Amino acid sequence: MTDVKKIAVIAGDGIGPEVVAEAEKVLKKAEELYGYSFETEHALFGGIAIDEKGTPLPEETLAICKSADAVLLGAVGGPKWDNNSKELRPETGLLGIRKALGLFSNLRPAVVFDCLKEASTLKPEVLEGTDLMVVRELTGGIYFGEKLRRQGEHGEEAVDTCVYNVTEIERITRQAFEIAQKRRKKLASVDKANVLETSRLWRETVNRIAPDYPDVELEHVLVDNCAMQLLRRPSSFDVIVTENMFGDILSDEAAMLTGSIGMLASASMGDSTDAGSFGLYEPVHGSAPDIAGQGLANPIATILSVALMFRLTFNYAEAADAIEAAVAKVLDEGHRTADIAVDKSKALSTSQMGDLIVAAM
Ligand code: ATP
Ligand code: MG
Repeated sequence: MTDVKKIAVIAGDGIGPEVVAEAEKVLKKAEELYGYSFETEHALFGGIAIDEKGTPLPEETLAICKSADAVLLGAVGGPKWDNNSKELRPETGLLGIRKALGLFSNLRPAVVFDCLKEASTLKPEVLEGTDLMVVRELTGGIYFGEKLRRQGEHGEEAVDTCVYNVTEIERITRQAFEIAQKRRKKLASVDKANVLETSRLWRETVNRIAPDYPDVELEHVLVDNCAMQLLRRPSSFDVIVTENMFGDILSDEAAMLTGSIGMLASASMGDSTDAGSFGLYEPVHGSAPDIAGQGLANPIATILSVALMFRLTFNYAEAADAIEAAVAKVLDEGHRTADIAVDKSKALSTSQMGDLIVAAM
């Protein structure tokens, strides 16, 4: 049964290498327990690649990713590179790698662990039963539209253009319907169709496709209302599909339901989310320069990203379940890193948390 799976490992900057090291322990444990075989290849990306290779996304890194079955990414960026020119910014590398790998959807599950309800800003009874997935379009919208500065009648003006074509909308919508079919069969399509033309095309396209998925209950939600409902009744959502900027904002909001950004995994996918599909897996959080190098980072987001990789790319559902159950068990036993600890003086280090999760598998 041991076909070798190739994983490109990009540790990146800040806490990236610290949390990725714990995720790699989980990969090793899964090999031991289930007889899998992983071949990991490390590659430079982000700030460290700028320092060592003069570019955030070196050709060889892209080649390693393209020849791999999946990519595991830590985090990139930091104050050191913030004032660089656009080509020499880690974030430019991030946009570049998604494009080059054909990744157009970002899946962010937000699951509330019972024992972490105390770490959330919301009341436990509001959070009860929350288990949702934000599907964010990654390649279009206002982040990629034409931008310009000009002199207008009343002084300097700035313009950002929001563009979506029907193909972009259709592919992400189909993916979201398919994901909903595998979950609780509810899809909320989020737009601002009362004001924006791109949102009207979005809604028309979603409605045109919906009959192909008759088993999924579809609702359209305006983005402002969605922002409110996420805080008021988060458990009413199953899958949320939305365009790039709305998804950026709503997925950070959804993140806070779970207590800490250090708990959230993500997958960036291309043409398919069927088992065997290529994907890039990373924690939702950034490089956290304020705590880097101190062993304080919570590795759970990265470890749960491995579980997503097992589920979506390798179809290793048993091992994915085991990882998620191990995380829940360790948390149930009261173990906490500083970001989720009530009593910070008893907080575990990054590697202590990783070791406990590996042991619980
Ligand atoms: P980026 O621009 O890369 O998103 P950011 O500064 O917006 O970076 P993060 O790097 O995610 O966001 O950090 C936000 C806050 O959350 C910081 O205070 C950081 O220390 C904290 N944080 C982020 N990830 C973790 C983690 N894994 N464990 C503990 N704290 C974390
Ligand atoms: Mg951020």
